[in-house]
Formats: sequence, C-alpha cells, structure tokens
Amino acid sequence: MLNVSNLLLDFRITSHCDLGCDLCFRNPGILDSSKDKALAVIDKMYDVGFRRIGFTGGEPTSRKDFLELIEHAKQKGFMTYLSTVGHRFVMDHERLNNVLDWVGIPIDGIKKEINSTIRSDKMSNQHRVVKNILTWLPQASNKINIKLTTVVSQANIMELHDLINWVEALPYNVQAWRFYQFCPLGVGKEKREKLEIDTQLFLEQMNRVNALHPEMPISWATFEERDNANVVMEPNFDVIIPDGENYTLLCNMYTDSREKILSSIFGNNHVMQKCENNRFWLDNREFIS
Ligand code: SF4
Repeated sequence: MLNVSNLLLDFRITSHCDLGCDLCFRNPGILDSSKDKALAVIDKMYDVGFRRIGFTGGEPTSRKDFLELIEHAKQKGFMTYLSTVGHRFVMDHERLNNVLDWVGIPIDGIKKEINSTIRSDKMSNQHRVVKNILTWLPQASNKINIKLTTVVSQANIMELHDLINWVEALPYNVQAWRFYQFCPLGVGKEKREKLEIDTQLFLEQMNRVNALHPEMPISWATFEERDNANVVMEPNFDVIIPDGENYTLLCNMYTDSREKILSSIFGNNHVMQKCENNRFWLDNREFIS
C-alpha cells in the first residue's frame, strides 16, 4: 500500500495557462504563490515525509521560476515529475536532464482537427511538438523518462491505432503511455456533450489497440478508475482529490500540521489503493538519485 514516501503528490505550481483546452480539468483563477512560499512548501513536504513530487498546472513552465523549483526538489531528494505541453522541453533539456525523473507530454491526435476539437486551435500542432522532441532526443544523452498522455474522447476514439502507429515510427522509445477516458472535471465539465465517451467503448478500443501494439508501453484508466486516484496540491497549497465531477479538500500543506496532513491524505485505504493503481507505471523505472 502507498505511504507518504511513495505517493506522488501533484503540485499545481500555477493555475495559469493560455492554451484554452476544452478538456482541461484545472481550477482556473487561483493566484500563484511566491517563489519563497513554494520553496518552503517543498521543504515542508520533505519534512512531512513525501519523496515524490509532480510539477503540474495550468502549464507549469509558464511560471518563470519552474526550473528553480524542480532543481530545489531534486536537491532535497525528491523523485520529480513534470507535466507539460512540451513547448520548452528541448530548450530546457540541459538543465532538466539532471534533475527530472519523468516528463509527461500530451498527444491526442495526429490531425489538426482532432487536436483542435479536443484541446484548442492553439494546440492544433501538438503532434508536431511531440514529433520534434522524439526526433531530437536520440542525440541528447537523455536521462529523463518520457511518458505520453492521451485523453480519449469522442473526437479520437476511432483514431487511436493511427496515432500509435505514428508514434511507434518515431526514433525514440517512450517509457510509458497512459490513455485516459475523458473526465468532465474543472473547465472540461462544460464540454462533456462534445467529448464524453462510453466506458465500454473506451475499454474495447484500448484492448484492441493494446493487442495490435504489444511493444508499446500502453496502459489506461477509465473515468471511474481516475476518480479519487490522485492527490493534487493547488497553487494556494490546498490539497485536494478529484471526487466525481468536483474536488474534495483534504488539508492545506502550508498551514496544517504534519499529523493533519498525514491523516487527511492517508486515512482512506480506498483512495490510497486507487492512487496506487493509477501510478503503477512510475515504479517500473529507476530514479535519478
Ligand atoms: S489542458 Fe493543459 S495545456 Fe490545456 S489549457 Fe489545461 S493546463 Fe493548459
């Protein structure tokens, strides 16, 4: 069972992002903390016993000090994960390569129309971003584990085989690829009619493409499997979990005591089991020490 040292806590270091995706499940409008407070909270997480931290958003790289926060976390001894659209990844790779264990980058389709439908016109070339990264990485002495993420919705459910074929032909092998059934959460709640898909259809398609691509590190999670299955810290340090179509507040990492933080997060075995099932792919790889 997960404990404080092996639970990955997602730190939304900003709720800002101007890419306007229809599927987004952040809570927009929460102000960024100062760098000093963010560093202090990373220290507190370490003192409480956490050893795995994810940097997410919003778009975390839109925060000017995001590299310093990751570097600080690695110096403390955290396993580090960054969830980003990847626009800056090649540019920042030299600094990230020694301090980042995992990066998660989205890819939902290989056609502009699909990317625009699921996300936004500003993301219509996201497959090109992924292609540039996976074409560049073989020459980069890369140590960072690469995880792709795909949100499966009405717009791409019948295109998954083509998408996987396309990625498979690129010259870098990714270490994990997670497919998520669309969740109507946060901003994405308003787009459910356009994007929501039936769970049975999702599972059928995932089993089909998995059988067609046995060499690819594919795994997936339904909306129900993701519900209650990750612990997130907002930019104001409120710790929350997705709960149905909303979030439930557990505690505040800045103001609450160690005891309150631990009991509110780890007091529910059902939630911990779901978090463990959702993050199994993390444990298949070694971390940068
Ligand atoms: S899904 Fe990610 S990239 Fe899209 S608007 Fe939300 S935070 Fe930005």
